[in-house]
Amino acid sequence: MLQKREKVLLLRTFQGRTLRIVREHYLRPSVPCNSPLCPRPAACRNDGKLLSGDVTHYMVPDWKVVQDYLEILEFPELKGIIFMQTACQAVQHQRGRRQYNKLRNLLKDARHDCVLFANEFQQSCYLPRERGESMEKWQTRSIYKAAVWYYHHCQDRMPIIMVTEDEEAVPQYGSETEGVFVISFKNYLDNFWPDLKAAHELCDSILQSRRERENESQESHRKEYPEHLPLEVLEAGIKSGRYIQGILNVNKHRAQIEAFVRLQGASSKDSGLVSDILIHGMKARNRSIHGDMVVVELLPKSDWKGRTVALCENDSDDKAPGESPSEPMPTGRVVGILQKNWRDYVVTFPSKEEVQSQGKNAQKILVTPWDYRIPKIRISTQQAEALQDFRVVVRIDSWESTSVYPNGHFVRVLGRIGDLEGEIATILVENNISVAPFSEAQMCKMPVNTPENPWKVSPEEERERRDLRKTHLVFSIDPKGCEDVDDTLSVRTLTNGNLELGVHIADVTHFVAPNSYVDIEAKTRATTYYLADRRYDMLPSILSSDLCSLLGGVDRYAVSIMWELDKTSYEIKEVWYGRTIIRSSYKLFYEAAQELLDGNFNIIDDIPEFRGLDERSRQAKLEELVWAVGKLTDIARHVRAKRDLCGALELEGVEVRVQLDEKKNIRDLIPKQPLEVHETVAECMILANHWVAKKIWESFPHQALLRQHPPPHQEFFSELRECAKAKGFFIDTRSNKTLADSLDNANDPDDPIVNRLLRSMATQAMSNALYFSTGSCAEEEFHHYGLALDKYTHFTSPIRRYADIIVHRLLMAAISKDKKTEVTENLFSNKDLEELCRHINNRNRAAQHSQKQSTELFQCMYFKDKDQETEERCIADGVIYSIRTNGVLVFIPRFGIKGAAYLKNKDGLVISCGPDSRSEWKPGSLQRFQNKITSTTTAGDSVTFHLFDHVTVRISVQASRCHSDTIRLEIMSNKPYMIPDTELLHQSAPLLKSDLVKEVTRSVEEAHLAQEVKGNIIQEDFQKYCQTKGRSLYTLLEEIRDLALLDVSDSHGI
Ligand SMILES: [Zn+2]
Repeated sequence: MLQKREKVLLLRTFQGRTLRIVREHYLRPSVPCNSPLCPRPAACRNDGKLLSGDVTHYMVPDWKVVQDYLEILEFPELKGIIFMQTACQAVQHQRGRRQYNKLRNLLKDARHDCVLFANEFQQSCYLPRERGESMEKWQTRSIYKAAVWYYHHCQDRMPIIMVTEDEEAVPQYGSETEGVFVISFKNYLDNFWPDLKAAHELCDSILQSRRERENESQESHRKEYPEHLPLEVLEAGIKSGRYIQGILNVNKHRAQIEAFVRLQGASSKDSGLVSDILIHGMKARNRSIHGDMVVVELLPKSDWKGRTVALCENDSDDKAPGESPSEPMPTGRVVGILQKNWRDYVVTFPSKEEVQSQGKNAQKILVTPWDYRIPKIRISTQQAEALQDFRVVVRIDSWESTSVYPNGHFVRVLGRIGDLEGEIATILVENNISVAPFSEAQMCKMPVNTPENPWKVSPEEERERRDLRKTHLVFSIDPKGCEDVDDTLSVRTLTNGNLELGVHIADVTHFVAPNSYVDIEAKTRATTYYLADRRYDMLPSILSSDLCSLLGGVDRYAVSIMWELDKTSYEIKEVWYGRTIIRSSYKLFYEAAQELLDGNFNIIDDIPEFRGLDERSRQAKLEELVWAVGKLTDIARHVRAKRDLCGALELEGVEVRVQLDEKKNIRDLIPKQPLEVHETVAECMILANHWVAKKIWESFPHQALLRQHPPPHQEFFSELRECAKAKGFFIDTRSNKTLADSLDNANDPDDPIVNRLLRSMATQAMSNALYFSTGSCAEEEFHHYGLALDKYTHFTSPIRRYADIIVHRLLMAAISKDKKTEVTENLFSNKDLEELCRHINNRNRAAQHSQKQSTELFQCMYFKDKDQETEERCIADGVIYSIRTNGVLVFIPRFGIKGAAYLKNKDGLVISCGPDSRSEWKPGSLQRFQNKITSTTTAGDSVTFHLFDHVTVRISVQASRCHSDTIRLEIMSNKPYMIPDTELLHQSAPLLKSDLVKEVTRSVEEAHLAQEVKGNIIQEDFQKYCQTKGRSLYTLLEEIRDLALLDVSDSHGI
């Protein structure tokens, strides 16, 4: 039986105004209590997540505690937490969507022992607000009342501790009900979690910043920024077209001055604007932070400004075409923020000297975020000095209109500045990547495979699956040393003479049930992260490198697609999808497969599967394998030719390279001999992905996960076209077909670098490929431009990508649907799938960025502290690929580095190259043309740099304390770099990325050893001479250990 009430809701906007909303409110006799102590679980309908059975008490946080200390409540150590609906709503209304989503995710997270209790729908818990009662008091009273009800509901068997920040509530309710205690949050931590240091520090840090905020708001301050407009005004303004909504994007090279608002959805159509809106200066940005969803008012045309075109520090990867922009563009100011995008920021504390110069208010420290786009943050801490050599995580709490900078609090220490592990941790936090080891709870649900307890194919699965073990020659082709084999192939002749091609993919979803612990973790990670020197797997290793991995010689479950092909035309006659059991016969590596294809059979000595066989069976097996590899290649050529007719792009060979332009920067540009067998495997995978895409879309037209690659914006091609023209090539960008053809023709026989640079520019101009739900997109937008396919998805790497796991489940559901059996898979609705796609796309971007940043980190470490005069590595040949007003962009093939080289230095001197070609700085001026730039000294000497000129550059590292180091390039001579004793100039042995990483890792280890020795010496000195504590490394480390700052678990929050 439901009781209807009216509920008046007062919403407070960020600006402090209140909105009155009346809602109908239904009260029920019972709502889920989610406690294992519930006397009537059926009546309560406790069918969701339950609280754990082994706790000593339940904890009920008050609304204010949930608002202020959510990040502590997220600690997995804190168990038995009941979030009252009243508290959750307070968060939603007063802290915004981001914080509310965090709370929702926490409640959903099976790993975290907390539940929601909908107290306002429970008829004996619901309290109407009394006349004159403040919202805050009513919320506290409601939460207390609900806690008491809950206590009695569990038959007084579990004490409840309500934790509140309301000082009056403690005496008021504290002794009202036996078994329900009321204490402050600080008190709670002190009494129940005395050893959870990380939580205590966080709590102190939050308390301190709150106290200071309160003090400050009492003092009167002059306004630094205009107030934001109330939400209703913003919304009305957006509707009427007076304001424009979009995401704020700060230019990292001009972070103080330039930001752009990218138009969103309806905004762009209504306002008739085509370009971004420039937000010039911090005042106009009005406290919005990079990534915030802002509302903008356009300034009158007379106030419009242009964007900067000159070369900035390390400016090498912007997509903006080189020409035109300096003219004024739509310019605006921020009038409100719809959604804040605050996250964890890695910052650096100022050095001791800088702190002193910051002056009187020494407890408030201005820290500098690692990300240039984020403004400095004011942190209240006593530990500034101890923290000055570390990378530290902070969060922003508020940004008042009276404050030049936002206020924040200290969260935890990551590691030392410049230390490899500290810098890698920085990159992970900045990309919001959390890679804590898999927990025990996750692992105990995993199958085992040990020598004592070997994993076996189960008889039920044997009945259900098609068994290919005796009928099919299945094998894999991967890079050498690959552990996680996602995909295997087979080909054979059928009795009717036709061919059968098979692609067999690891059956990950057999082991990973929807919403299991491992599934949730994999979904959160969304992908395996590959950094320059390490990787973080999406799945536990028992799956990724063992039971799911399609290794040679062992039985494995697979999901297979098999096509029957016409024996001569290779036309597809028939296709079969389903679960199988396979036993891969060979785990080949690319080079070996290529040798077999080329007829060099000596390679079989390197293939372990051929060892220990007698000559006859060896010969027979070899023939069988060679036939299969050859046939596959034949089929792949045929399939590829068909795709080429439709305009598939050969950018960097395989699809990943197209969409992840930056991700594999280094590897891309290493002149590695591409093997045809790479393409053979890639083509079979593309074919499988394409057919699965068709299948799941036909079965579930509104909720299938596909991958689209939108056609590029033509204007992004202008630089490519201009560059090609400089070499006399014409690039036709009208379609993917013409682009592919003209790139093939743009080949300078004397300089292969030209074609690579042009292809790389084409890649840069491309849009990113994205996952999407078919229900939220018109069919013509499904198209994959790069692969020239109408439908595409990811199916072939379920060990490494979560999208493929979803696609496997969709395919299984489609198969059940065909068999007219019940679809047992719980499919996502279009809306949920869309949200999931957004998450995965976002994680893929994070994976790209972290890989790029970690590679740059290694590059810098490779060149750092090297004597530039004597070290051979610091001088290299470079190719100019872009001309700017004050310099050029240079690509260094040997190291795969791209960067800016200035032709005018900070003192205003310009470059001059004498008769010996060596460069010097002299007074003079620069003149820029379409494809060249000329530097003329006042004495009248001039030197001109053309596009694609080879020059000699010196590589050095620009060290930075607060940000990442950057590579600096200087032109030493306008002639190519000649390595003595060799004729091959720019093709001198390229340095492989893995070698670079290896060398840096080795020197880091040596440095560590040296440091340890140094530390020991200092310790000895200390004991021997009883020196007073100086600022030595050792004492500082000890101090930090005392503060227990480094003990903070990194599993939390990021
Ligand atoms: Zn119950």
